[in-house]
Amino acid sequence: SYSLGPKIANWDSTRKIWLHENPRFPSHVNGKPRVLLVTGSPPSPCDNSIGDHYLLKSIKNKIDYCRIHNIEIVYNMAYFDQQLSGYWSKLPLIRKLMISHPEIEWIWWMDSDAMFTDMVFEIPLSKYDGKNLIIHGYPELLNSKSWVALNTGSFLLRNCQWSLNLLDSWAPMGPKGTIRDKVGKILSENLKDRPDFEADDQSALIYLLISRNNKWIDKVFVENSYYLHGYWAGLVDRYEEMIQKYHSGFGDERWPFVTHFVGCKPCGRYGDYPVEKCLKSMERAFNFADNQVLKLYGFKHRGLSSPNVKRIRNETFRPLEFVSDLDIRHSAFRGS
Ligand code: UDP
Ligand code: MN
Repeated sequence: SYSLGPKIANWDSTRKIWLHENPRFPSHVNGKPRVLLVTGSPPSPCDNSIGDHYLLKSIKNKIDYCRIHNIEIVYNMAYFDQQLSGYWSKLPLIRKLMISHPEIEWIWWMDSDAMFTDMVFEIPLSKYDGKNLIIHGYPELLNSKSWVALNTGSFLLRNCQWSLNLLDSWAPMGPKGTIRDKVGKILSENLKDRPDFEADDQSALIYLLISRNNKWIDKVFVENSYYLHGYWAGLVDRYEEMIQKYHSGFGDERWPFVTHFVGCKPCGRYGDYPVEKCLKSMERAFNFADNQVLKLYGFKHRGLSSPNVKRIRNETFRPLEFVSDLDIRHSAFRGS
Protein backbone atom coordinates (compact mmCIF):
# COMPACT_ATOMS: atom_id res chain seq x y z
CA SER A 1 0.00 0.00 0.00
CA TYR A 2 0.92 3.65 -0.32
CA SER A 3 3.62 5.15 1.88
CA LEU A 4 5.29 8.55 2.14
CA GLY A 5 8.74 6.96 2.25
CA PRO A 6 10.89 4.63 4.35
CA LYS A 7 9.38 4.24 7.79
CA ILE A 8 11.30 6.46 10.20
CA ALA A 9 11.46 5.25 13.78
CA ASN A 10 13.19 6.77 16.81
CA TRP A 11 12.98 10.25 15.29
CA ASP A 12 12.79 11.88 18.70
CA SER A 13 16.03 10.35 19.93
CA THR A 14 17.96 10.70 16.64
CA ARG A 15 16.85 14.33 16.38
CA LYS A 16 17.89 14.93 19.98
CA ILE A 17 21.37 13.53 19.28
CA TRP A 18 21.63 15.61 16.10
CA LEU A 19 20.71 18.78 18.01
CA HIS A 20 23.34 17.95 20.62
CA GLU A 21 25.99 17.43 17.93
CA ASN A 22 25.02 20.61 16.03
CA PRO A 23 24.92 23.41 18.59
CA ARG A 24 25.03 25.97 15.76
CA PHE A 25 21.50 24.85 14.85
CA PRO A 26 19.52 25.12 18.06
CA SER A 27 15.81 24.25 18.13
CA HIS A 28 15.18 27.20 20.44
CA VAL A 29 16.50 30.74 19.97
CA ASN A 30 16.27 33.27 22.81
CA GLY A 31 14.08 30.81 24.67
CA LYS A 32 11.60 30.54 21.79
CA PRO A 33 11.00 27.46 19.64
CA ARG A 34 12.13 27.81 16.06
CA VAL A 35 9.21 28.06 13.63
CA LEU A 36 9.21 27.48 9.86
CA LEU A 37 6.23 28.78 7.91
CA VAL A 38 5.52 26.72 4.80
CA THR A 39 3.27 27.69 1.94
CA GLY A 40 3.16 27.16 -1.81
CA SER A 41 1.23 27.15 -5.05
CA PRO A 42 0.96 24.94 -8.15
CA PRO A 43 4.01 24.49 -10.41
CA SER A 44 2.31 26.16 -13.39
CA PRO A 45 0.83 29.63 -13.87
CA CYS A 46 -2.73 30.29 -12.75
CA ASP A 47 -5.53 29.84 -15.31
CA ASN A 48 -6.29 33.50 -14.69
CA SER A 49 -3.22 35.77 -14.64
CA ILE A 50 -4.73 38.03 -11.97
CA GLY A 51 -4.51 34.96 -9.75
CA ASP A 52 -0.71 35.10 -9.92
CA HIS A 53 -0.84 38.74 -8.80
CA TYR A 54 -2.84 37.75 -5.73
CA LEU A 55 -0.44 34.90 -5.01
CA LEU A 56 2.30 37.55 -5.04
CA LYS A 57 0.37 39.73 -2.59
CA SER A 58 -0.23 36.74 -0.40
CA ILE A 59 3.45 35.77 -0.21
CA LYS A 60 4.44 39.42 0.39
CA ASN A 61 2.02 39.45 3.31
CA LYS A 62 3.58 36.28 4.75
CA ILE A 63 7.14 37.54 4.24
CA ASP A 64 6.21 40.70 6.16
CA TYR A 65 4.69 38.78 9.06
CA CYS A 66 7.61 36.35 9.22
CA ARG A 67 10.26 39.09 9.10
CA ILE A 68 8.55 40.96 11.92
CA HIS A 69 8.30 37.82 14.06
CA ASN A 70 11.58 36.03 13.25
CA ILE A 71 9.91 33.12 11.54
CA GLU A 72 11.65 31.31 8.69
CA ILE A 73 9.70 30.78 5.49
CA VAL A 74 9.60 28.25 2.64
CA TYR A 75 7.64 28.72 -0.59
CA ASN A 76 7.19 25.51 -2.51
CA MET A 77 6.03 25.06 -6.12
CA ALA A 78 7.11 21.46 -6.70
CA TYR A 79 5.19 18.23 -6.28
CA PHE A 80 7.39 16.01 -4.11
CA ASP A 81 5.02 13.13 -4.77
CA GLN A 82 3.08 12.89 -8.04
CA GLN A 83 0.28 10.94 -6.36
CA LEU A 84 -0.25 13.55 -3.66
CA SER A 85 -1.09 16.46 -5.93
CA GLY A 86 -3.22 19.52 -5.19
CA TYR A 87 -4.21 20.11 -1.57
CA TRP A 88 -2.57 16.82 -0.60
CA SER A 89 0.87 18.10 -1.65
CA LYS A 90 1.40 19.72 1.75
CA LEU A 91 1.80 16.28 3.40
CA PRO A 92 4.97 14.99 1.66
CA LEU A 93 6.31 18.56 1.77
CA ILE A 94 5.84 18.92 5.53
CA ARG A 95 7.41 15.52 6.16
CA LYS A 96 10.41 16.35 3.95
CA LEU A 97 10.94 19.69 5.68
CA MET A 98 10.65 18.10 9.10
CA ILE A 99 13.36 15.53 8.48
CA SER A 100 15.58 17.94 6.49
CA HIS A 101 15.47 20.71 9.11
CA PRO A 102 15.81 18.95 12.46
CA GLU A 103 16.51 22.34 14.09
CA ILE A 104 12.94 23.47 13.37
CA GLU A 105 10.61 22.80 16.29
CA TRP A 106 7.30 23.72 14.65
CA ILE A 107 6.32 23.49 10.99
CA TRP A 108 3.48 25.89 10.27
CA TRP A 109 1.51 25.18 7.10
CA MET A 110 -0.43 28.10 5.65
CA ASP A 111 -2.49 28.03 2.44
CA SER A 112 -1.73 30.46 -0.36
CA ASP A 113 -5.26 31.86 -0.02
CA ALA A 114 -4.81 32.77 3.65
CA MET A 115 -3.36 36.11 4.75
CA PHE A 116 -2.17 37.47 8.05
CA THR A 117 -4.48 40.31 9.04
CA ASP A 118 -3.12 40.95 12.52
CA MET A 119 0.57 41.71 12.05
CA VAL A 120 1.13 42.12 15.80
CA PHE A 121 -0.45 38.95 17.22
CA GLU A 122 1.87 36.03 18.01
CA ILE A 123 0.89 32.42 18.52
CA PRO A 124 1.16 31.72 22.26
CA LEU A 125 3.43 28.70 21.75
CA SER A 126 4.13 28.12 25.44
CA LYS A 127 0.46 27.19 25.80
CA TYR A 128 1.04 24.08 23.69
CA ASP A 129 3.58 22.15 25.74
CA GLY A 130 2.71 18.48 25.36
CA LYS A 131 0.68 19.09 22.17
CA ASN A 132 1.92 18.25 18.69
CA LEU A 133 -0.80 19.57 16.38
CA ILE A 134 -2.37 23.01 16.73
CA ILE A 135 -5.33 23.55 14.48
CA HIS A 136 -8.27 25.92 14.37
CA GLY A 137 -11.62 24.28 15.02
CA TYR A 138 -14.47 23.51 17.37
CA PRO A 139 -14.55 20.43 19.66
CA GLU A 140 -18.40 20.35 19.52
CA LEU A 141 -18.28 20.11 15.74
CA LEU A 142 -15.63 17.41 15.99
CA ASN A 143 -17.92 15.44 18.29
CA SER A 144 -20.75 15.76 15.78
CA LYS A 145 -18.38 14.64 12.97
CA SER A 146 -18.81 17.82 10.97
CA TRP A 147 -16.59 18.03 7.90
CA VAL A 148 -15.78 21.64 8.81
CA ALA A 149 -14.87 20.90 12.45
CA LEU A 150 -11.22 21.75 11.69
CA ASN A 151 -9.53 23.79 8.98
CA THR A 152 -6.29 22.60 7.39
CA GLY A 153 -5.55 25.99 5.80
CA SER A 154 -3.32 26.99 8.73
CA PHE A 155 -1.95 24.59 11.33
CA LEU A 156 1.24 23.81 13.23
CA LEU A 157 2.91 20.42 13.58
CA ARG A 158 5.70 19.77 16.05
CA ASN A 159 8.84 18.20 14.63
CA CYS A 160 8.60 14.82 16.37
CA GLN A 161 7.89 11.11 15.87
CA TRP A 162 4.21 11.56 16.65
CA SER A 163 3.86 13.97 13.70
CA LEU A 164 5.67 11.59 11.32
CA ASN A 165 3.30 8.85 12.46
CA LEU A 166 0.29 11.10 11.90
CA LEU A 167 1.48 11.91 8.36
CA ASP A 168 2.03 8.17 7.73
CA SER A 169 -1.59 7.45 8.68
CA TRP A 170 -3.04 10.48 6.96
CA ALA A 171 -1.30 10.35 3.55
CA PRO A 172 -2.55 6.91 2.32
CA MET A 173 -6.03 8.46 1.94
CA GLY A 174 -4.75 10.91 -0.70
CA PRO A 175 -3.23 9.20 -3.77
CA LYS A 176 -4.87 10.63 -6.89
CA GLY A 177 -7.22 8.31 -8.75
CA THR A 178 -9.20 5.34 -7.45
CA ILE A 179 -7.96 5.63 -3.86
CA ARG A 180 -8.78 9.33 -3.54
CA ASP A 181 -12.19 8.74 -5.15
CA LYS A 182 -13.04 5.72 -2.97
CA VAL A 183 -11.92 7.41 0.23
CA GLY A 184 -14.00 10.44 -0.76
CA LYS A 185 -17.11 8.24 -0.63
CA ILE A 186 -16.17 6.88 2.79
CA LEU A 187 -15.58 10.40 4.09
CA SER A 188 -18.94 11.63 2.81
CA GLU A 189 -20.68 8.64 4.42
CA ASN A 190 -19.01 9.27 7.75
CA LEU A 191 -18.81 13.05 8.05
CA LYS A 192 -21.81 15.28 8.57
CA ASP A 193 -22.89 17.46 5.61
CA ARG A 194 -19.87 16.57 3.48
CA PRO A 195 -20.71 16.89 -0.24
CA ASP A 196 -19.77 13.97 -2.46
CA PHE A 197 -16.30 14.59 -3.86
CA GLU A 198 -12.81 13.08 -3.83
CA ALA A 199 -10.95 12.81 -0.52
CA ASP A 200 -9.51 16.12 0.67
CA ASP A 201 -6.82 16.48 3.31
CA GLN A 202 -9.13 18.29 5.75
CA SER A 203 -11.91 15.69 5.82
CA ALA A 204 -9.31 12.94 5.99
CA LEU A 205 -7.67 14.50 9.04
CA ILE A 206 -11.01 14.92 10.81
CA TYR A 207 -11.90 11.30 10.02
CA LEU A 208 -8.53 10.11 11.31
CA LEU A 209 -8.80 12.07 14.55
CA ILE A 210 -12.30 10.89 15.41
CA SER A 211 -11.79 7.24 14.50
CA ARG A 212 -9.59 4.56 16.10
CA ASN A 213 -10.84 5.36 19.61
CA ASN A 214 -9.38 8.83 19.52
CA LYS A 215 -5.83 7.49 19.33
CA TRP A 216 -4.51 10.88 18.22
CA ILE A 217 -6.67 13.49 19.86
CA ASP A 218 -4.86 13.89 23.19
CA LYS A 219 -1.88 15.49 21.42
CA VAL A 220 -4.07 17.82 19.37
CA PHE A 221 -4.95 21.33 20.49
CA VAL A 222 -8.17 22.44 18.83
CA GLU A 223 -7.78 26.21 19.02
CA ASN A 224 -10.55 28.78 18.70
CA SER A 225 -9.56 31.51 21.14
CA TYR A 226 -8.07 33.38 18.16
CA TYR A 227 -8.28 33.04 14.39
CA LEU A 228 -5.42 30.76 13.43
CA HIS A 229 -7.80 30.36 10.51
CA GLY A 230 -10.63 32.88 10.05
CA TYR A 231 -13.34 32.41 7.45
CA TRP A 232 -13.19 35.52 5.24
CA ALA A 233 -16.91 35.95 4.56
CA GLY A 234 -17.70 37.17 8.07
CA LEU A 235 -14.58 39.30 8.42
CA VAL A 236 -13.64 41.34 5.36
CA ASP A 237 -16.69 43.65 5.53
CA ARG A 238 -15.95 44.50 9.15
CA TYR A 239 -12.37 45.81 8.85
CA GLU A 240 -13.40 49.51 9.03
CA GLU A 241 -15.44 48.79 12.15
CA MET A 242 -12.46 46.96 13.68
CA ILE A 243 -10.17 49.91 12.92
CA GLN A 244 -12.66 52.23 14.61
CA LYS A 245 -13.19 50.16 17.74
CA TYR A 246 -10.01 48.15 18.33
CA HIS A 247 -6.35 47.78 17.43
CA SER A 248 -4.15 44.98 16.18
CA GLY A 249 -2.86 42.40 18.64
CA PHE A 250 -6.10 40.62 19.64
CA GLY A 251 -6.09 38.06 16.83
CA ASP A 252 -9.74 37.19 17.47
CA GLU A 253 -13.04 38.54 16.11
CA ARG A 254 -11.96 42.03 17.19
CA TRP A 255 -8.94 41.89 14.84
CA PRO A 256 -8.55 38.51 13.10
CA PHE A 257 -5.09 36.96 13.05
CA VAL A 258 -5.65 35.15 9.73
CA THR A 259 -8.25 35.75 7.01
CA HIS A 260 -8.63 32.65 4.86
CA PHE A 261 -10.37 32.76 1.46
CA VAL A 262 -12.04 29.38 1.66
CA GLY A 263 -14.08 28.66 -1.46
CA CYS A 264 -12.32 31.30 -3.57
CA LYS A 265 -10.21 30.12 -6.50
CA PRO A 266 -8.76 33.15 -8.32
CA CYS A 267 -5.89 30.96 -9.54
CA GLY A 268 -7.99 28.00 -10.61
CA ARG A 269 -11.38 27.31 -12.05
CA TYR A 270 -14.01 26.00 -9.69
CA GLY A 271 -14.69 28.39 -6.83
CA ASP A 272 -17.82 28.59 -4.68
CA TYR A 273 -17.90 32.39 -5.02
CA PRO A 274 -17.67 34.79 -7.98
CA VAL A 275 -14.00 35.57 -8.70
CA GLU A 276 -14.69 39.36 -8.59
CA LYS A 277 -16.09 39.12 -5.07
CA CYS A 278 -13.07 37.08 -3.99
CA LEU A 279 -10.51 39.44 -5.53
CA LYS A 280 -12.13 42.53 -4.02
CA SER A 281 -12.17 40.86 -0.62
CA MET A 282 -8.55 39.72 -0.94
CA GLU A 283 -7.54 43.24 -1.88
CA ARG A 284 -9.19 44.54 1.30
CA ALA A 285 -7.52 41.93 3.49
CA PHE A 286 -4.12 42.61 1.93
CA ASN A 287 -4.40 46.39 2.36
CA PHE A 288 -5.79 46.08 5.89
CA ALA A 289 -2.67 44.09 6.79
CA ASP A 290 -0.29 46.16 4.68
CA ASN A 291 -1.36 49.35 6.48
CA GLN A 292 -0.01 47.80 9.68
CA VAL A 293 3.33 47.25 7.92
CA LEU A 294 3.47 50.63 6.15
CA LYS A 295 2.81 52.58 9.35
CA LEU A 296 6.48 52.34 10.31
CA TYR A 297 7.46 53.95 7.02
CA GLY A 298 4.86 56.70 7.27
CA PHE A 299 2.36 55.55 4.67
CA LYS A 300 -1.07 53.94 4.38
CA HIS A 301 -3.32 52.81 1.56
CA ARG A 302 -5.73 55.43 0.21
CA GLY A 303 -8.52 53.09 1.17
CA LEU A 304 -8.84 49.37 1.85
CA SER A 305 -9.58 48.85 -1.86
CA SER A 306 -6.65 50.91 -3.14
CA PRO A 307 -3.20 49.59 -4.01
CA ASN A 308 -2.00 53.22 -3.90
CA VAL A 309 -0.68 54.80 -0.72
CA LYS A 310 -0.57 58.23 0.90
CA ARG A 311 1.73 59.81 3.44
CA ILE A 312 0.47 59.74 7.06
CA ARG A 313 3.13 61.91 8.63
CA ASN A 314 5.78 64.39 7.66
CA GLU A 315 9.38 63.39 7.19
CA THR A 316 11.60 64.22 10.13
CA PHE A 317 15.32 64.87 10.61
CA ARG A 318 15.14 62.95 13.92
CA PRO A 319 13.73 59.57 12.78
CA LEU A 320 14.86 57.54 15.77
CA GLU A 321 12.63 59.47 18.17
CA PHE A 322 9.65 57.59 16.75
CA VAL A 323 10.97 54.19 15.79
CA SER A 324 10.14 52.41 19.02
CA ASP A 325 6.57 53.80 19.00
CA LEU A 326 5.97 52.81 15.41
CA ASP A 327 7.80 49.50 14.96
CA ILE A 328 5.31 46.79 15.88
CA ARG A 329 8.15 44.59 17.10
CA HIS A 330 8.24 46.94 20.10
CA SER A 331 4.49 46.66 20.61
CA ALA A 332 3.07 46.00 24.05
CA PHE A 333 0.22 44.01 22.54
CA ARG A 334 2.38 41.14 21.33
CA GLY A 335 1.45 37.68 22.56
CA SER A 336 3.52 34.92 24.24
N1 UDP B 1 -1.31 23.99 -3.11
C1 UDP B 1 -0.04 23.80 -3.65
N2 UDP B 1 0.07 23.22 -4.89
C2 UDP B 1 -1.03 22.83 -5.59
C3 UDP B 1 -2.30 23.04 -5.05
C4 UDP B 1 -2.41 23.60 -3.81
O1 UDP B 1 0.95 24.15 -3.02
O2 UDP B 1 -0.87 22.33 -6.69
C5 UDP B 1 -1.43 24.60 -1.79
C6 UDP B 1 -1.85 26.06 -1.86
O3 UDP B 1 -1.10 26.78 -0.89
C7 UDP B 1 -3.31 26.02 -1.48
C8 UDP B 1 -3.37 24.82 -0.56
O4 UDP B 1 -2.43 23.91 -1.08
O5 UDP B 1 -3.75 27.21 -0.84
C9 UDP B 1 -4.73 24.17 -0.47
O6 UDP B 1 -5.14 23.72 -1.71
P1 UDP B 1 -6.63 23.98 -2.25
O7 UDP B 1 -6.78 23.40 -3.59
O8 UDP B 1 -7.56 23.61 -1.16
O9 UDP B 1 -6.57 25.52 -2.48
P2 UDP B 1 -7.32 26.70 -1.75
O10 UDP B 1 -8.76 26.31 -1.65
O11 UDP B 1 -6.67 26.89 -0.45
O12 UDP B 1 -7.06 27.81 -2.71
MN1 MN C 1 -7.34 27.63 1.38
